[in-house]
Amino acid sequence: MVKESVLFASSEVYPFAKSGGLADVSHSLPCALAKECDVCVVMPLYRFIDREKFGIKPSGKTFEILIGSNAYPIQWYECRMEGVGYRFVYSPLLSEKEYLYGPPEAGYEDNAIRFGIFNYVIMELLKNEKFSIAHLNDWQCALVPLLIKSNPSIRTKTLYTIHNLAYQGTFEPSVMEMLGLDEVHYTLDGIEFYGQVSFMKAGIAYSDRINTVSPTYAQEILTPEFGCGLEGFLQLHRGKLTGIVNGIDTDHFSPANDDTLKVPYTDLKGKRANKSGYLKENKLKGIDKALIVFIGRLTWQKGMDMLISILPELARLECNIAVLGEGEIRYIESLESIGSEYPNLRLHCGYDETLAHRLYAAADFVFMPSLFEPCGLNQLIAFAYGALPVVRKVGGLADTVQPIEAFDPKSEGGFGITFEGSDERDVLNAIHRAFELYAQKRVLNPILRHNMECDFSWNESAKGYLNLYRMCRE
Ligand code: ADP
Repeated sequence: MVKESVLFASSEVYPFAKSGGLADVSHSLPCALAKECDVCVVMPLYRFIDREKFGIKPSGKTFEILIGSNAYPIQWYECRMEGVGYRFVYSPLLSEKEYLYGPPEAGYEDNAIRFGIFNYVIMELLKNEKFSIAHLNDWQCALVPLLIKSNPSIRTKTLYTIHNLAYQGTFEPSVMEMLGLDEVHYTLDGIEFYGQVSFMKAGIAYSDRINTVSPTYAQEILTPEFGCGLEGFLQLHRGKLTGIVNGIDTDHFSPANDDTLKVPYTDLKGKRANKSGYLKENKLKGIDKALIVFIGRLTWQKGMDMLISILPELARLECNIAVLGEGEIRYIESLESIGSEYPNLRLHCGYDETLAHRLYAAADFVFMPSLFEPCGLNQLIAFAYGALPVVRKVGGLADTVQPIEAFDPKSEGGFGITFEGSDERDVLNAIHRAFELYAQKRVLNPILRHNMECDFSWNESAKGYLNLYRMCRE
């Protein structure tokens, strides 16, 4: 069998820079793949990345890249971690920003050229080094398949992974010239999208294969409800589209070996000690009351409008509630205002990896009322930490959370509370089912123990990716 050499490109990679699940995947998937093939990960070197902490060093290569009629200075940096080589692209326009893509309300105005630079620099790597596969993730590197098609000397095959179709990288048509793109691509079959330029369409149209991060989401995006206007275009390319569920890094998300926890644990007794610690630290009362946790980006996608509308009713029940997230100001303001009325509600604004781990360890239930969810990682982390997910049955949540009513201890997958519909009643019913179950520990605890034992690592899904790489070359 040919040993693949993979260039894995992503705009965010844990632990260097993270805004969501893409960063987790871009760390843990290459680590799993490195057991079977050569993997090099390439990402932007944002100014907030701690170079010293991670041993990131300049690799001595400084050059200029010509895009359209402008030259941009580029510097390569590199480091090695857990068997994976990392290359970092430094260019002032791309790197010298406070956020990855922009403040919560909007993307930066120059994102087209910022990530255009990233795509052109990836092309430099492909020209100068031999990779059998370029694995490109989300719109931030989606121009690469188009650029490869215009450069026949590059034989590298491309896999384009859609982690979230809602973020497409669409820009004014004037960026065509700025990005040095030939007008022939500005068509319905190419990258034109309602009078704009779509990076996402370039990835879909010109890559050898496309996948999303769960089989259900791969089907959903072919429909108007989930297709974000690209359903017709995706239908056209459906022959090369598949879905593979994400795994989690089981070293990083392991309650037994988690050094962010006050009490690492392997059983529900140890978990209770973490719950007690969290409640005490946050002046919440009632170890025997259910602790319901929401962790995630505060956006409409994650069901924030629903969460906010049911929160007062939820907070009046015998429970404690914790919300950890960063995102839109309007949601933060509503959460703060509800939080000020209910002493059993804790709001933690911002991004805090340690607190997230402690919350998974403390939680009885992890609540995910997402409107759509390409895969979702929180439910997998919840399983590992003995918290029961309460999820809307969409996308990857439908693929990874089996309903508790069908609990089978011989199953290899995890179980949780699933609900359909988008009415407040549907969501509150699911919460009430969670409370009923919480009162029946003899039913609940075996399910939690089963979930904690399941394998949510990348082992199986990495094989799926290796298979897709092989298919790209066929
Ligand atoms: P997304 O749509 O944001 O990519 P995922 O479920 O795929 O959602 O992944 C979310 C990841 O980010 C999980 O590891 C989750 O624990 C983490 N996360 C989200 N928000 C925060 C936060 N405010 N602080 C710490 N971790 C967070």
